[in-house]
Amino acid sequence: MHWKIGDVTVTKVVELEVTGGSRFILPQATRDAILPIAWLRPHFADEDGRLRMSIHSFIVETPTRRILVDTCLGNDKQNRRIPHWNDRHGPFLQDLAAAGFPPATIDTVLCTHLHVDHVGWNTMLRDGRWLPTFPKARYLMGRVEYQHWSQPRGRADMDAVFADSVKPVFDAGLVDLVEMDARLTDEIDLVPTPGHTPGHVSVRIRSRGEQALVTGDFMHHPCQIAHPEWASTADSDAEAGIRTRERMFNDLAGTPVLIIGTHFSGATAGHLVRDGATYRLDV
Ligand SMILES: [Zn+2]
Repeated sequence: MHWKIGDVTVTKVVELEVTGGSRFILPQATRDAILPIAWLRPHFADEDGRLRMSIHSFIVETPTRRILVDTCLGNDKQNRRIPHWNDRHGPFLQDLAAAGFPPATIDTVLCTHLHVDHVGWNTMLRDGRWLPTFPKARYLMGRVEYQHWSQPRGRADMDAVFADSVKPVFDAGLVDLVEMDARLTDEIDLVPTPGHTPGHVSVRIRSRGEQALVTGDFMHHPCQIAHPEWASTADSDAEAGIRTRERMFNDLAGTPVLIIGTHFSGATAGHLVRDGATYRLDV
């Protein structure tokens, strides 16, 4: 699945899709609360009101760079809080290569934030060591985000993510710490969207008069477009996250900016429109 924004192409490569079982992330998104939001079906919820979610990467190709945005869960990882995120043996790298992107052709890796499902393929296990999966890439991470997660968080699962998926690429000298509004190329810059994590960023694409925004996790699921006040249990500052969604939705509603969702399943992208007192995604 891919999208063209002027001279830029964005391609989605999926690691994992699930229906249901996401209540732990969005406790307010009960089936009874989801069913009345008709536009969520069929892409983002099923007939029974269960949420569909996806963990995927985007490859953003500009005339000068090949940028992998977020690196999913990875294989062989341990000490993850979600049981089936441990010890995975999925075909993500083969799927990436089959889509035209062998790891050695990626020149930039960008993590919107440093959560478990956004940094996993930064590294891979070789002879008992975690090595960079994309050795020819510069790995861009937010300075604020990196400083936050490089302190012990007092949670074994979060500390494990930093140790096996972030620190090895830093130690290999491949990381460039960037500001939250950094410009990466003529077409690509970062937009600060804090709340989910302290240094969370989204990715703006502008080319030949066309625009798109790769969300990251400032919303986990399109149901938060209908309910910006629904915080995720993974948010580090729920109130800041709500303010970010309200600001972003107000800015984006009715504009031609294509919203490309980091955990949005099915069609994955659409335009934000105002719908009476609320918002919806027009896919
Ligand atoms: Zn996250």
